[in-house]
Amino acid sequence: MRLSITWPRMHQMLRGALPGYCAFCLARTVAGQGWCHACFVEMPWNIKSCRHCANPLHERTQALCGHCLRKPPPIRHTQAAFLYQAAITELIHDFKFNASPRAGMLLVELMLTTVPRQPGAALLAVPMHPVRARERGFNQAQWLAEQLARRTGLPLLQAECHKLVASQRTLNRQERAANLRGTFRMASKTRALPAHIMLVDDVVTTGATGNALAEVAIDAGVERVDMWAAARTPLGDN
Ligand SMILES: [Zn+2]
Ligand SMILES: [Zn+2]
Repeated sequence: MRLSITWPRMHQMLRGALPGYCAFCLARTVAGQGWCHACFVEMPWNIKSCRHCANPLHERTQALCGHCLRKPPPIRHTQAAFLYQAAITELIHDFKFNASPRAGMLLVELMLTTVPRQPGAALLAVPMHPVRARERGFNQAQWLAEQLARRTGLPLLQAECHKLVASQRTLNRQERAANLRGTFRMASKTRALPAHIMLVDDVVTTGATGNALAEVAIDAGVERVDMWAAARTPLGDN
């Protein structure tokens, strides 16, 4: 199931969408929702996925992907209701690269349709290096986490990114993990961390970044780390 909306069309819709109208097709919506029922159903739902990393699974009987079976990651549970495809890709691009508040709020609302069953006691956004944040104008994960914290009532913890990580695209799993070592640190003002926390990010690509941050949180005393992301890039290699 894919929405055949092109990027310029989506961008135009998001800019022009009015309250009371679906952001994806401009049909009338029920009060308070940013989308219509038909578009909601057609979203690229991540229906059957690995419990640890949310990579889509092909076998119904599987609970974990091959990677997580071989080497369980520090993140215990990843909630990513959507695949990074179709309308969700467009929405995230508009949010991230055009800093569209309308797209950001739609993502928050979509994430809130599938609140993790065990949300933990605090949220922690995946931090961005200050140089990257300046380039982009904002840290999209922090913005999402602030909105989700406000809506769920969960407190928001802080971490810092100390290393400007080069593109991970050409690296394999081991190289990515090595590349990220020493990147994150819990903020010094964060004391007495809760036992169970949930990281927040927009997209989980390989899981390497979230796992690196999870290791830092675990080293600082957290017992269980989960991830709440808007979308998952399907790797198709399990
Ligand atoms: Zn619609
Ligand atoms: Zn997995």
